[in-house]
Amino acid sequence: MKEIIAQQRTFFNTHATKELSFRLDQLKKLRDMLKTHEQQLDEAIYKDFKKSPIENYMTELALLHKEIKDVKNNLHYWARKKRVATNLANFPASSYLYPEPLGVCLVIGAWNYPYQLSFAPVIAAIAAGNTVVLKPSELPSHTSSLMAKLIQDHFDPAFFTVVEGGVEETTQLLDQKFDKIFFTGSTKVGKIVYKAAAQHLTPVTLEMGGKSPAIITKDAHLKMTVKRLIWAKFLNSGQTCIAPDYVMIEEGIEEEFLKLAKEEILGAEYAFENDNYVQIINNSNFDRLVGLLKKDTIYYGGKTDKEMRYIQPTLMHNVTFEDAVMQEEIFGPLLPVIRFGSLDQAIEKIQTLSKPLSCYIFTGSKQTERKLLKELSFGGGAINEALMHVSNPHLPFGGVGKSGIGNYHGEAGFEAFSHYKSILKKPTWLELPLKYPPYSSSKFNWLKRLLKL
Ligand code: NAD
Repeated sequence: MKEIIAQQRTFFNTHATKELSFRLDQLKKLRDMLKTHEQQLDEAIYKDFKKSPIENYMTELALLHKEIKDVKNNLHYWARKKRVATNLANFPASSYLYPEPLGVCLVIGAWNYPYQLSFAPVIAAIAAGNTVVLKPSELPSHTSSLMAKLIQDHFDPAFFTVVEGGVEETTQLLDQKFDKIFFTGSTKVGKIVYKAAAQHLTPVTLEMGGKSPAIITKDAHLKMTVKRLIWAKFLNSGQTCIAPDYVMIEEGIEEEFLKLAKEEILGAEYAFENDNYVQIINNSNFDRLVGLLKKDTIYYGGKTDKEMRYIQPTLMHNVTFEDAVMQEEIFGPLLPVIRFGSLDQAIEKIQTLSKPLSCYIFTGSKQTERKLLKELSFGGGAINEALMHVSNPHLPFGGVGKSGIGNYHGEAGFEAFSHYKSILKKPTWLELPLKYPPYSSSKFNWLKRLLKL
């Protein structure tokens, strides 16, 4: 690993990555690679957890193509020096921000969207002019080894390479000095990464998870709410960092919501045979999820098959904040529904948990919308929608508190992998004598007038 990083550092120091044409060429290569090998990418992810080509395209590859296109269209604008105002004390002068790449970057991916969560940060790192070591999650082994092979075949390892492995290999990587670490995964491992980064004072972006609530009030358009919410929850079998984790619903509409939600689930025909549903990633996650299922809280669903790693889309009611399912991020196809009397009570309850990655507000009232946006802190989210905010590259994506540090997508990704050098440029045709000794009371008076403090 030391050698890989040394090679990348040598390459970075040639300044080749600072040319925008080089970055755009590499991203074109990545785009062509994803297009040419789309079938192989489909097959690998299907082997890992039965994710169908349509879902692979919709939730992984399309986002990557969009990110590359966004860079292609905007890189010249993002990467140029930006002029900012200059204060009077520096007259005459001009001031600029010069974006520069950070250097050799480590990207650590999570398993649930293995292509998207590995390559989207890589695209941002390349756009900003860095070299990259990618460590995808080891759990989806077919996608991990395919990514390693494709990158090896298409890229110079001194610029972009993949290191495969789990805890041991990641720990070894984290011992090395990088110029940026971009991590996607659990809060537990995020803390390990943050601690390791501190040894070298390496800047980090940490994309983590949490319990993202969906709040539904009486005046919401219930049918549309259910349609959007059920799709967002059971996509990828609930194994989505921004999936609605649980529902907080206003008293009086719970029964109607559950009835409509059940109908929506039945209508979606979630099953492996028709490619409408994906497997739980592994046995330990399967066992963990089954452990959260309390029989007397199941409104609909609850069927499981260990051999197939199948858990039926499940609606849970009469759930309290003390139940096991409310003690951790669910990350699976279980949807607890909890009633609330007043909005203040709902806010108070949500605030007993740590700041989530997302929050979804389903309401017809502008006042409710304003109140929730003002009083709840979370990474990002949507109003009368769920999940789709992630697909807008103009919305920086990331968490707050335990759900994350920093963000990316679009220009925010470029910024995450850049340092902005602040530069003051002075002409030589004038120099005011005020700052130079010997000091005098008249200089002091002029200084006070000029600085206006
Ligand atoms: P994880 O934290 O177990 O693993 C993430 C990465 O860290 C993997 O590459 C893994 O190999 C590595 N890793 C695991 N244990 C490690 C250790 N002890 N030391 C060093 N490295 C280690 O997370 P996961 O199970 O892959 O993903 C699920 C979590 O990720 C959920 O909490 C989910 O919300 C979160 N997530 C967040 C986002 C986001 O964009 N914010 C996206 C997807 C998933």
